[in-house]
Amino acid sequence: MIFDVMTLFPEMIESYCCFSIMKRASEAGVIKVNTINPRDFTLDKHKKVDDTPYGGGAGMVLMAQPYVDAYESIGRSENSITVMLSPQGEPLNDGLVNELASYEQIVLMCGHYEGFDERIRDIIKPKEISIGDFVLTGGELPALCLIDAVSRKVEGTLGKIESADEDSFSNGLLEYPHYTKPREYRGLKVPEVLLNGNHKEIAEFRLQQSIERTKKKRPDLYAKYSEKSI
Ligand code: SAM
Repeated sequence: MIFDVMTLFPEMIESYCCFSIMKRASEAGVIKVNTINPRDFTLDKHKKVDDTPYGGGAGMVLMAQPYVDAYESIGRSENSITVMLSPQGEPLNDGLVNELASYEQIVLMCGHYEGFDERIRDIIKPKEISIGDFVLTGGELPALCLIDAVSRKVEGTLGKIESADEDSFSNGLLEYPHYTKPREYRGLKVPEVLLNGNHKEIAEFRLQQSIERTKKKRPDLYAKYSEKSI
């Protein structure tokens, strides 16, 4: 899986990918994260990438030329998708993450300031994706959320000890609670069933816990789950 990230702040992307599971997946060649800086494509001698909005108003708008030229410099595989990170996009969720994981290459466009000149959308026609109904200063954190979530679904990213199969949302429910050593902490004991080695009982207990906490924390999710189970 190749991620080509268009960003004015490549260090933000590169530094995140130097740690933990992302680092291991990069070193193993399971994922590759490239950065492309539109500032390197500007024809302006001051390397300008933004300007004031026509019609007035606050903030600076990202200019079309550096973004379009940067985009057109990226080699594209046949099985590729271009995503613009935008608060106006489709909300990112586990279903969309699975869909994105089926591509070989994802080109990610990070905005900044007031956002993109509309002609960037008109020419590139990206899929717009949002990480929630709030506005951040830039698209780098949303891009990293997407890269991280999609990478977890790519075979080889998670080792044997980490698995996405039982994570929240994978079966339509939130995941069950976890416990580790010691058996008792500040008077709180690990549930007995987890200590008896009976795998069937443990599986039943965990499913029940998943159902209970989904009902309580995410009734909307539980309603969908019970509709499916009927
Ligand atoms: N003026 C734009 C609007 O109101 O729709 C917001 C621009 S925002 C300050 C700058 C950039 O941050 C956006 O171009 C986008 O790349 C990114 N961004 C901000 N919030 C986001 C979100 N919730 N999801 C995805 N990207 C976001």
